[in-house]
Formats: sequence, C-alpha cells, structure tokens
Amino acid sequence: MRIAQISYWSCPLTRLGVLTAGGMNVYLFNLAKSLTEKGHRVDIFVRSHSTEHDSVLDLGSSVSLIHLNSVKYENLLGPQYFAKAILKYVKDKKLEYNLLHAHYYLSGLTGLWLKNKLKIPLIQTFHTLGAMKKKYIAIDDQKRIQAEKKIIDNCDVLVSSTQLEKKDLVDYYKANPEKISVINPGVDHQLFAPGGKNYSREKLKLPLDKKIILFVGRIDPVKGLNLLLEAIFRITEIDPQFKNNYQVLLIGGDIESRNYWQNKNIKDIINFLKVKDLECCIKFLGSRSHSDLPYFYSAADLVVLPSVYESFGLVILEAMACGAAVLASKVGGLKYLIKDNINGSLFKSGDIRQLSDKIVTLLKDNPKRQELGLSAYRDSLFYSWEKHADKLLTLYKNFA
Ligand code: UDP
Repeated sequence: MRIAQISYWSCPLTRLGVLTAGGMNVYLFNLAKSLTEKGHRVDIFVRSHSTEHDSVLDLGSSVSLIHLNSVKYENLLGPQYFAKAILKYVKDKKLEYNLLHAHYYLSGLTGLWLKNKLKIPLIQTFHTLGAMKKKYIAIDDQKRIQAEKKIIDNCDVLVSSTQLEKKDLVDYYKANPEKISVINPGVDHQLFAPGGKNYSREKLKLPLDKKIILFVGRIDPVKGLNLLLEAIFRITEIDPQFKNNYQVLLIGGDIESRNYWQNKNIKDIINFLKVKDLECCIKFLGSRSHSDLPYFYSAADLVVLPSVYESFGLVILEAMACGAAVLASKVGGLKYLIKDNINGSLFKSGDIRQLSDKIVTLLKDNPKRQELGLSAYRDSLFYSWEKHADKLLTLYKNFA
C-alpha cells in the first residue's frame, strides 16, 4: 500500500516539547516507521519550515518526508493552499496513493479537498478537539469546531485514541459511532525501558541524595503545571524540609528564547515561584531530546502529569515503560493508562489538596513506588507502535 500522511501543522522532525511540537509528532514518526516495517510505503507531507535540509528527506527505506512551500495560516485558506501544493507534487511525480491519513483538524481540511480531487479515502485522526479546549480551558474557537464537524461528516473513517475520545466525537459533534475506530497509540520499548536510578542521575548530573519529581510537557494551559506548583507550595508549608530534600524538574519549552519567558503562562508561574519562595527547588530544564527522556524518567522518584485535559498522554506511557512511579489527573487517556494504586496513582483533576497529599504519601513510601513502577512497566508492554500499525492496517485495508 502507498499511504499519504498529511501534517499541515507541524513536522515530525521539529524539536519536541517546544510550542506545538509534542505527541502528534512522535505519533506520526512512529506510525510511518511501523507501517514501512510491514512493507508499506509512506509519504508524509509537511510545510517547508527550514532551508537547512533538502525538501524531500528519506527517513527510512520507504518513508519520505516531503516539505512543500505553503503559508501557515490558521484560517481555512492555509490548508487549501497546502492541498494545492500536494496535488501539484502528486501530479508532477505521477504518484498514486491508496489513501490519505490526516492529523489534526487543519490537515483534515487539506485532506477533504484532496479526497475530492484524487478520489481516494480519507482517514482522520484529530489528536485534540476544539470542543474539548472549550470545555476544559475555555478557548472557544467556533471556526475550528465547525471545521472539525465538516471533516467528521465527510471523511471516511475517524481514528480516536480512546473510548472517551470516541464518546466526545459522538456527544459534541454528533459523529456516527460506526465511523469511529478506537486505536490507542503505542510506545517505543527499545527507547523507553527501565534503567538504573543512580546511573541515570549520574549521566544527567542530577543529585543522588534528593527526591526528584518530574514534569514533562509542552507549555500549554491544558498541562496543568500551575496545579503542580500550587501543590508543591502546599507541601512546603506543611514540611519545611521539603525545599532541602526535594527537587522538581520541569521539562518542555524553549527556555533559550525570549518568547518563552514572555509567555503569560510562564510569567504567572515565575511570579508565583518568587512570591512563594519556591525558586530554589524548581528547575526549568527546557525541552530535552526524545532520546534523553528515558534517563529522566528513570532518574525520577515520581513523574507527575496534572493535565486538565489529555487526549492520550504519551509522556505517562513512556514513563511507565521505564518503570517509573506515575501520578496523573483522572482525565482523558490518562484514566485508561493508569489503574489507581495498581500501576500508578490518579488524583481528581484540579484538586490541589489531593495532588499534594498523594505526592507526599508516595514519596515517603519507597516499596509502594517500586511496586507501582513494576506494574506500570508490565502494563506498558500491552502498548506498542507495531500493534498500533497492525490495527490501522486492518482499517486501511477495508478502504484501499
Ligand atoms: N517530548 C520530548 N521532549 C520534550 C518534551 C516532550 O521528547 O522536551 C515528547 C515526549 O516524549 C512525548 C511527546 O513529546 O512523546 C508529548 O506527548 P504527549 O502525548 O504527552 O503530549 P502532547 O504534546 O500530545 O500534548
């Protein structure tokens, strides 16, 4: 099969953890890799974003990353320009695809236009939905929600990461449930595997004598970083020794850029840390390469993800695959990954008291964290990109 993956919004090679580059990029890269390992040909179409490399890159024997010149508009015209650029490329190179698979709603708009021109099926994965941003962080983008509705009504199949995302598509967009396939993402077990705590800390030059709490995520209000910091403040009020014995590491964001420190979210956080005198135990590490993350997960005593919304939550699955003890809010995909008190711990979203109590209890109990980490590792083995690709291929074959 020859499959065209459309990624208008960002390129799988963009630095992860910065701006919008996160789970979707990891997903696209691993999906393409697994499909080609099964003998299929994948072309990923992205917008040109750099002159530092060739416009067409071979990422493996049968994956090409094709950068096309197209403006980045968030309005509905941008995806159409991109679709025209793809169509021209496909015609010039005389390419034939079995199907299109679009990621995020803007790519979905590109996909709809191309589907009509090329007369091939369109598979859509949203990764995140406008209606959920409205519900959880009060960002009400009606144009986006209407565009999503149009894609939902006109694409051939929708792929959701969890049963909950399927329910959201049905409840908020009146999607036909029969058109939705639930296929959860995977994790790369070659990369994310248990490693020694001391070894990882030495490699990362982290202290051996402190308890480490790790947060990994893009700087986005959905990630709930403010909740974690408020919980830490509450702990320091109860336990004055916390600041000497604990370190909170924050991974994500381009800390070298001025824009990062100008971001309203970050400014509020910095102000909070100053006022509450927390600067000593909270460290901003910025984005880290994907290949360094296993060491961080292994070095941490607790990986915390306090998101107010999370369509899946790859960070938690990666941490579990490294055998880390994880604590996350009971939202979205996180409540499917974590079985409370069995392979990790869940807290009620937004409940700072419960979050801080759970951090304290877990950090005091070394055997419990070990037990949770071991179950987390075992449960993570049910997830792989290979299984993900197998299920998608079964779906693709119904259409191709
Ligand atoms: N990530 C990374 N370096 C960073 C921050 C994040 O490699 O500095 C990766 C992380 O390993 C994960 C992805 O970005 O694979 C984030 O995915 P997740 O589903 O947790 O969040 P999303 O970005 O989709 O909201």
